[in-house]
Amino acid sequence: MSDTPLLKIEDLTAHHGAVCALDSVSIDVPERGLCAVLGANGAGKSTLLRTLTGLHPATSGRVTLDGEDITRLPAERAVTKGLAHVPEGGGVIVELTVEENLRLGGLWRARHDPETLAEVLDLFPPLVERRGKPAATLSGGERQMLAIGRALMARPRVLLLDEPSLGLAPMVTEQIFTLLGDLRDRTGLTVVLVEQNAAGALGVTDHGFVLNQGRVAAEGPSDDLLSDDRTRHAYLGF
Ligand code: ATP
Repeated sequence: MSDTPLLKIEDLTAHHGAVCALDSVSIDVPERGLCAVLGANGAGKSTLLRTLTGLHPATSGRVTLDGEDITRLPAERAVTKGLAHVPEGGGVIVELTVEENLRLGGLWRARHDPETLAEVLDLFPPLVERRGKPAATLSGGERQMLAIGRALMARPRVLLLDEPSLGLAPMVTEQIFTLLGDLRDRTGLTVVLVEQNAAGALGVTDHGFVLNQGRVAAEGPSDDLLSDDRTRHAYLGF
């Protein structure tokens, strides 16, 4: 893992009207890093991901990807630069088949890319036999896999996930978290995992950042945060 961060967030500030949702947030994510962004409801986690991907405007601050300033790129340019965002709930289109959903994720690329489709399906065996079925027939965990697979179709350098555990049973959540670790190990992808399930997310990530009222209230190696009683009690609820 290189020491130079692949994704560098410096003093990022963003507002919703008068509400300051991100207040001078600085986060470094190294290449092949798997990092958790944690915090309670309203801490600013979703705003962070939406600001990184150009879906929400930054008030001030800077975001660089591999040294290139991407702070004010519109969302469609952010994805071509290598940021893929899996929104809360996944955003799978249930009327379309599994394969159609995956192909949508590849529309950013110049041409249909059967090699990437085959590679992505290879990462998610449960989706292979369902590729011709409507996404509505998938379980919650399979839909989350499909949402991740669709993001991977853009061949991102950084995958940003917003609460993939939402609405999933604990066992399925564990499978999805394990899958993220495997994905990083197999593909060399860099992953930012936004979660309210702090214990689960810290169990699979290398490094964690805790947001509280739009500020980074704590950060450190995930194992250290897991054993830090003060941080766990004050911000993580376990
Ligand atoms: P959750 O886990 O509930 O999604 P979060 O940590 O992702 O919470 P954000 O959704 O980023 O937090 O919200 C950060 C702050 O911005 C909160 O105070 C929230 O009320 C406010 N906020 C978020 N979206 C809007 C909006 N569309 N309009 C006004 N305020 C908003």
